[in-house]
Amino acid sequence: MDSTFAERLEAWQRQFGRNTLPWQSTKDPYARWVSEIMLQQTQVETVRAYYLRFIERFPTVSDLAAAPKMEVMKLWEGLGYYRRAENLHRAAREVMVRFGGRMPKDAADLLTLPGIGDYTANAVAAFCGGRLLKAPVDGNVRRVLSRCFCEESFLALPPKPRRVDEIAAAAMSDASDAGVFTQAVFDLGALVCRPKTPKCDACPLLQTCRAKAWGVEARVPLTVRPAKGSRIYIVPVDLFEAETKLKETEGGLWSGLWAPSGMHQSGEAVEEPSGGFRRVGLPPLKHLLTHLEVTFVPFVREFDSREAFEKLPGEVFPLDALPPLSVPVRKIYDALAERIR
Ligand code: SF4
Repeated sequence: MDSTFAERLEAWQRQFGRNTLPWQSTKDPYARWVSEIMLQQTQVETVRAYYLRFIERFPTVSDLAAAPKMEVMKLWEGLGYYRRAENLHRAAREVMVRFGGRMPKDAADLLTLPGIGDYTANAVAAFCGGRLLKAPVDGNVRRVLSRCFCEESFLALPPKPRRVDEIAAAAMSDASDAGVFTQAVFDLGALVCRPKTPKCDACPLLQTCRAKAWGVEARVPLTVRPAKGSRIYIVPVDLFEAETKLKETEGGLWSGLWAPSGMHQSGEAVEEPSGGFRRVGLPPLKHLLTHLEVTFVPFVREFDSREAFEKLPGEVFPLDALPPLSVPVRKIYDALAERIR
């Protein structure tokens, strides 16, 4: 292993990496944990505004623990992968009970909290001066390291996670600051060692990168991608004047958000719900997730008696004060509100 690998990366990070993101000005494990959770599957630029709003409203772990779940979900609305927000809230409450309200900074403690996996626990520890259990490895780190320390087997198969962990541990062993090193690999993967078109000429590792020397940089690491699937969801909306009924979703892709209680996955074709629902001219909505294309098909049923409406399952909400909704359900209600106006 090149003994100056970490030094070169850290020097590059300080000069060319990202150093002005709002969460980088603190070593508070609570704030870094919130930012790391938001950054999962989400672009840095999208996270920035959500992070600032979240930390302004919940500056400490006790503020988050004391908040009603509905408010936490509302601040997360539009960020996707809502189970993350539910777990943040649950974990904050656990911190109050199990850690006396002090957010832990050691990876071993962080790992005991809901929604915190290997990468997040070790990354938060690295950024906040806590004890790590291993070098943090996410998709960016895996790509940079498997290119730079490419082995012949990587040309035939995706690198094994255990092998990448070993390479990461060796690469990090001479880092002067675990946080700067972690940010350096992350930044290099995001800004220079990009998945399809790495910008090797701007890379501090160019002289020693094996994949570049072998001319295979854009091929490594090999990936085995799951095929893109599709699903259809039926969204049966009940209306009485300017009110609707919604229920909190438990489990699944939109856990913790609210939706019409009859929303369900359809078979391969659109199955019309029974009970007087109509299409009312609202077009189906397509929503893309990482490996899934979901089509939402709205149906509407309008009641002329409050009594029958109130008997439906769920809680009543005025259309201009809806609880946290998934992006597609929010769009359906926006379109409906437009029609009613
Ligand atoms: S030289 Fe190219 S492939 Fe190698 S680490 Fe740098 S950007 Fe990635």
